[in-house]
Amino acid sequence: MKYSQLAELYEKLSSTTKSLEKTDILAKFLNKLKKEQDKSIIYLLKGKIFPDYDESEIGISLQLTIKALSKATGYQETKIVEEFKLLGDLGKVAELLTSSKEQSTLSSTKLTAEKVLINLRKLVEFEGKGTVEKKISLIAELLTSASPTEAKYLARTLLGNLRIGIGEGVLRDAIVVACCPKDNKAIPSKGREGSGFSWGCDEEKVKQLKEQVQEAYNTSNDFALVFEKACQGKLKEIVIDTEKPLKVMLYPKADDFQDAFDRLGKPCIFEYKYDGFRMLIHKNNNGIKLFTRRLDNVAKQFPDVVKYVKENIKAESFIIDSEAIGYDPKTKKFLPFQTISQRIKRKYDIEKLVKKLPIEINVFDILYYNGENLIKKPFEKRHEILKKIIKNDKYHLKLAEQIKTSSEKEAEEFYNKALEEGHEGVMAKSIDAPYKPGSRIGYGLKIKPQDQDFDLVIVKAEYGTGKRAGWLTSYTVACLQQDQFLEIGKVSTGLKEKPEEGLSFEEVTKKLKPLITKENGREVEVKPKIVITVTYQNIQKSPTYKSGFALRFPRFTRLRLDRNTEDITTLAEIEKEYQRANN
Ligand code: AMP
Repeated sequence: MKYSQLAELYEKLSSTTKSLEKTDILAKFLNKLKKEQDKSIIYLLKGKIFPDYDESEIGISLQLTIKALSKATGYQETKIVEEFKLLGDLGKVAELLTSSKEQSTLSSTKLTAEKVLINLRKLVEFEGKGTVEKKISLIAELLTSASPTEAKYLARTLLGNLRIGIGEGVLRDAIVVACCPKDNKAIPSKGREGSGFSWGCDEEKVKQLKEQVQEAYNTSNDFALVFEKACQGKLKEIVIDTEKPLKVMLYPKADDFQDAFDRLGKPCIFEYKYDGFRMLIHKNNNGIKLFTRRLDNVAKQFPDVVKYVKENIKAESFIIDSEAIGYDPKTKKFLPFQTISQRIKRKYDIEKLVKKLPIEINVFDILYYNGENLIKKPFEKRHEILKKIIKNDKYHLKLAEQIKTSSEKEAEEFYNKALEEGHEGVMAKSIDAPYKPGSRIGYGLKIKPQDQDFDLVIVKAEYGTGKRAGWLTSYTVACLQQDQFLEIGKVSTGLKEKPEEGLSFEEVTKKLKPLITKENGREVEVKPKIVITVTYQNIQKSPTYKSGFALRFPRFTRLRLDRNTEDITTLAEIEKEYQRANN
């Protein structure tokens, strides 16, 4: 497929902010993609080159892209930087400079989407010293044969910021529209409020397909595979694979115990809510993998956990859901997530860190056991299997504490015990619910003390002055609405100046700097990647921010490197919280 077809699609998609229109445009494109052999072109639609379960990232810095652009266009780097300062978007700079190239013509280029995928994938393979030149050549090769519009989107893809606002939801719906059987055509329309589709002759069938596509995606994290199977009407062939990560099930909040019983039925199971990070433990013939919520395999960083799994879980193959918590090796007191989060990304001195920050795994669910998919089985039955195969080994690996009760009083006592022991609260779980990967469906609910916090993503930041010069010290954060990030406020308190005192400006600055896509005086725009927990005193309506809300007294409390931007707080959740607090 010609890359110009993709560039044209990106242009069309960026001309509208309406999800239904985006779905329509995308579905038409997918109809063309159906005929192509290589369905992995679909990854480029989200600015990616591999399936979502793959941890490799394009990861090209602004500087390197500028160098490649200079090589491809013959313009000096200083000129490119100058234009970048003016336009604030390297994509636009690439477009401008390519259009003024002598050899540029209006006719379309020979650049193919396959070639783009090949070169970008090679970029990921190169690592270490001496690779910069090779990377620049690979990028320049693409830019040289690109039309101005193609160059714009190539540059943006390299920087990881396509700015066309399509995400999981729109892509899923477009697959439904493109692959729906002819006699059950689904047409995206503005007509029917809420549903987003005007169904053809069989509304139910299309709805089912939408669920199947979502389920297949949550199971495989691979849109190329989902698209291919959806076109063939073989989505059922996508099954759990112990080699690949799955999306975990998520839990909304309950107002209180009565609310939990009302929504989950009586009796239900209550478990301690541990304050750590989620870990999906996979075992098969090839060994043990430990996946975070971001689908990264962290087995190398956690050799201690691999050992506990071998010693304490008896089964040939499984996928087990758990929470990893850290504790102080001397006092055995549990540590907040922030302290152990450094273990997730650590590449060196791992054994030292294992001793300094030991981990206890608290197991609470099982999705696959010795060749059998368990996700449709009731929670209580899944838990019985867990009990059979897990040997409790305190401070290493054990079952999460739990009780089964119909009594609010008993549940409350259990909750108080959890808090006394230093845990975050409790999870209430329906005894007969299945497991739904990737869904915040409410088969389990979290109950914590008055937690006024949201998980938000940093979209902009500002350099400090005086003592804080050189650090990014104020962060504009955003919530999620469908596929867009909507700003909700600025956070500048909660971090430390000295790293030894806790999470510091320096550490956050280090994380943000490689993500900068635009600079404007002291303010920078960053790729929306870093998720943080922000506590606040209350929510106000505000015209200042796109979300329509602002947070009063926001405070940066956690850096959530284990979280995806797709999991952050949604605008609907913020609206609900606002209503709750003001009623
Ligand atoms: P929150 O991080 O506040 O959205 O709460 C949900 C998270 O709590 C889950 O994603 C898990 O990482 C964590 N968690 C801790 N203990 C449990 C448990 N017993 N069952 C399920 N999730 C738990």
